[in-house]
Amino acid sequence: MKLIPVYMPDVSGNELEYVTDCIQSGWISSLGKYVSRFEGEFASICGVKHAIALANGTVALHLALLSLDIGPGDEVIMPPLTFVATANAVKYVGANPVFVDVDPTTWTIDPEKIESKISSNTRAIMPVHLFGHPVDMDPLNGIADKHDLIVIEDAAEAHGAKYKGKTTGSLGDVACFSFYGNKAITTGEGGMLTTDSDQIAERARFLKDHGMDKDRHYWHSEVGYNFRMTNLQAAVGVAQIERFPEIYTRKRYIAGIYKERLMELPTIEVQPEASWAENSYWMNSIILKENCPLDRDTLREKLSQHGIDTRPFFYPLHFLPPYKELEGKYPVSERLAAGGINLPSYPGLADDDINRICDLIIELTN
Ligand SMILES: *Cc1c(COP(=O)(O)O)cnc(C)c1O
Repeated sequence: MKLIPVYMPDVSGNELEYVTDCIQSGWISSLGKYVSRFEGEFASICGVKHAIALANGTVALHLALLSLDIGPGDEVIMPPLTFVATANAVKYVGANPVFVDVDPTTWTIDPEKIESKISSNTRAIMPVHLFGHPVDMDPLNGIADKHDLIVIEDAAEAHGAKYKGKTTGSLGDVACFSFYGNKAITTGEGGMLTTDSDQIAERARFLKDHGMDKDRHYWHSEVGYNFRMTNLQAAVGVAQIERFPEIYTRKRYIAGIYKERLMELPTIEVQPEASWAENSYWMNSIILKENCPLDRDTLREKLSQHGIDTRPFFYPLHFLPPYKELEGKYPVSERLAAGGINLPSYPGLADDDINRICDLIIELTN
């Protein structure tokens, strides 16, 4: 039986050639031409002035918070329906995440519910472009302006996605990306911080390299960090960017087939795309509705018996021990999380396989 995983990186371009170049030239650490090339090319995808390559997406979030001097006692608003790294990064700096439920039509943070959660300790909002769908940023940025809050995009899942024509990474004060093996651009492990602000970029570059003085070697005026990306990782990233338009188009095409086949089913809700959004469809997701004859885990089990791997949605963070709050507080996130399945979504997925997955889902959920 053919096995279909949820994700498989497509590293079939110049990745091997560029990595070989690093090995042969000896530039395997964080100095080397691929790091700056990757940064420059990624900045231009996002349409921002600065991109800073980092070890992974979690440290990108951590560094964004550090660079903005968010610390003990501060509060950062975010949705509970996200990967745990969003909240963990806030904890690393001694601040606290404050949850705001998601909007049922975008599955991302509901701007209308933000203001009631703002306190005198609130410093920032962290919108998460879940599974590639951009957050409704205009109302969110309006609230941030009014209350003098910083906006940090968690764009780890939304490379290339667009909000009213502008690309993620350019929609707030600073943004964070991940290049983990299953992300739409991968470097194995890797991350990026993007910003238009010279001041934030300078601070982030300083802190990610042990706080070393730009002009005075081994002079460290503050406690800094080693959050650097290696030239080896960046070499993979440069090769990925060469093929990113192709990968992005293919992923949107795959989402198109899933949607066409599954959208009309009365028992399933498919991943949204708001009129103002261009979803990058990192994952192709469905939610089983209440009238579905079988439950989420049974459907996953049956698909698995046919060799089709799937993932459940993230647990809402307020269910997890470090972030525990009462159940029922964020009902939309809870409903989506309980019924949500991520389907195979990698760019190399064949049309026939997508159709086979859809045939099975249609058969099983009717
Ligand atoms: C992948 C991901 C991260 C973290 O990225 P890593 O590179 O794995 O550290 C952060 N936030 C979200 C929403 C993610 O999906």
